[in-house]
Amino acid sequence: MTIAQQITPANRQLPDIDAAARGLYIDGQWRPSQSGRQIDVVDPSTGAILAVVPDATIEDARASVDAAAAAAPSWRATPPRRRSEILRRCFELMIERSEMLATLISVENGKALKDARGEVAYAAEFFRWNAEEAVRISGEFGVAPSGTNRIIVDYQPIGICLLITPWNFPAAMATRKIAPALAAGCTVILKPASETPLTAYALAAIYEEAGVPKGVVNVLTTTTPGPITAEVLADPRVRKLSFTGSTGVGRQLLAEAAKNVISCSMELGGNAPFVVFDDADLDAALDGAMIAKMRNAGEACTAANRFYVQSGIYDAFAQGLADRMSALKVGSGVEVDTDCGPMITRKAVEKIGRLVDDAKAKGARVLCGGDMPSGAGFFYPPTVLASVSEDSEMAQEEIFGPVAPLYRFETEEEAIASANDTEYGLAAYVYTRDLARGLRVSSGIEAGMIALNRGLVSDPAAPFGGVKQSGLGREGGQHHGIAEFMEAKYIATSF
Ligand code: NAP
Repeated sequence: MTIAQQITPANRQLPDIDAAARGLYIDGQWRPSQSGRQIDVVDPSTGAILAVVPDATIEDARASVDAAAAAAPSWRATPPRRRSEILRRCFELMIERSEMLATLISVENGKALKDARGEVAYAAEFFRWNAEEAVRISGEFGVAPSGTNRIIVDYQPIGICLLITPWNFPAAMATRKIAPALAAGCTVILKPASETPLTAYALAAIYEEAGVPKGVVNVLTTTTPGPITAEVLADPRVRKLSFTGSTGVGRQLLAEAAKNVISCSMELGGNAPFVVFDDADLDAALDGAMIAKMRNAGEACTAANRFYVQSGIYDAFAQGLADRMSALKVGSGVEVDTDCGPMITRKAVEKIGRLVDDAKAKGARVLCGGDMPSGAGFFYPPTVLASVSEDSEMAQEEIFGPVAPLYRFETEEEAIASANDTEYGLAAYVYTRDLARGLRVSSGIEAGMIALNRGLVSDPAAPFGGVKQSGLGREGGQHHGIAEFMEAKYIATSF
C-alpha cells in the first residue's frame, strides 16, 4: 500500500516528500552534499525507503558556519519586535500546515497520527511562546554595595549555535531550540537525526516563508555526525552546543565541547518512575499511565519506564493497565485509528525484545503482549509485565517502547528510594489523593520534572530538563529557555 492509500480520509493534506528531500539548507539555499552521497529515509511501518537526503561533508558544515556567521550581525541587530513578528509567523504557518506536518512526522517517524498532531501543536507553540518572550528580554541595574559604582547587566546573544536533535520528536526537539535561539538573536546550524530529516527540512521551508533571513537557520543531515560536530565546535565563531539525545552521545559531546570551552545545554535520556499509592484515584492513575507510557508508543525521554505500585492497589492497577494496553490498535502511524505505531528501527525492536526476554528470565509475568512479531515493519505489541525484578536490565535502561514493567512497593520511603535508584533524573509521575504526601514525594524524587496526578509534564511555558545524567540546562519556561542562548555582560560604571 502506498502512503497516499494509507492516508484516510482522502482530503488529508499530503506532505510533499520530494520537496522536503530537495537538499541541505545552507545560507537560504537548497544544496546537494559536496560529496554527492545520500542517506536513505525509511518508512518504519514497512521498512521501505521513502526518500533520500544529502549526506553532508565537513565542507558543507564549514559552509553552514560561514552562513551563520555572515547572518549573525544583522540578525542580532534586528529589533526584538521584528524578530518576534517573524517567530509569530512561523507559529501561524505551522498551525496552517499542521495536518501536512503531522502526516510527514507520522510517515518518517512511524508515530500514530494523533501523537504527531499533538507534536505539531507542541512544536508550533515554541514559536508563539518565544515570539512573546523575544520582546521581554531585560537587563539589570543596581548600586554596588560599596556605593562606589553602578552595576549594569546586559543580556546579549551568545553567538552561533550548533543544535543537534533526535528522531523521536522531529519537529518539537528542533523548534524547542530554534525558537529561543532566534528570539535571543542567535543564528543556528541544526543537525537533525538521520532517521527523521524530512520534518526538519519541511520546517526550514516554513521559516524561510515566514521571513527568517538566509543564513539565520541552516540545516544539514549527515551520517558522520562525530567528525562534523568536531569541525563545527572547533570553529571559534561557534559559542553554543544544544543537544537532545542519548546520555552516551551527550557525554562524548561534552568532552568535544570542552576543547573550546563551548557553552552546553544537554537534554539527555530518562528512566522515569511512575509511582501509584494505595489512595490514588485508580481510573485517573490508569489514564495518566496510558499517556505517560504510550505517548509516541513509549519512544519519549519522559516515558514512564518503571511503574512502582503500592501493594493495596497493585492487582487492580495491573489488571486495568493490561486491559487498556491490550485494547490498543497497533498499525501504521498514518492510519487515523492507530494508537501504537511502529518503532523507529528494527534495532530498536530488537533492543525491546532483549529487555523483555531478560525480565521474563528473571521472573516477570506477561499480562499482555511480550512477543516479537514477525512480518514487515518495526512493530512491538503493547506489553505489561508484572512482578518484574529490580535486577532486570529494564530497571536501569530506557526501554523506549510500549512496555510497562510493574514493581510492587510497601512504604513511601521504599518508593522514593526505588525511584531514585538510577543514574537518570528527567521526569517522574506520582499518583496519590494525599496532597501533602504528593508534595513530599515530589520533593524527595531526584528529577527535573514531576507530574503530580498527571500523565504529562511537557509545556513550552515550563522549564523542561533533567538532573543527574539526564542533562544540563532547561528548555522552555519563562526565561530559562532563552537564557541558555544568552550571555550576561556586566558593566561597572560611576556617575
Ligand atoms: P542519539 O543516538 O544520542 O542521537 C541524537 C542525535 O545525536 C542525532 O541527531 C544523532 O545523529 C546525533 N549523534 C549521534 N552520534 C553523534 C556524535 N558522535 N556526535 C554528534 N552527534 C551525534 O539519540 P536518539 O536515539 O536519536 O534519541 C533517543 C534518545 O534521546 C533517548 O535517550 C531519549 O531519552 C533522548 N531524548 C531526550 C530528550 C530530553 O529532552 N531530555 C528528548 C528526546 C529524546 P544520527 O541520527 O545521524 O545518528
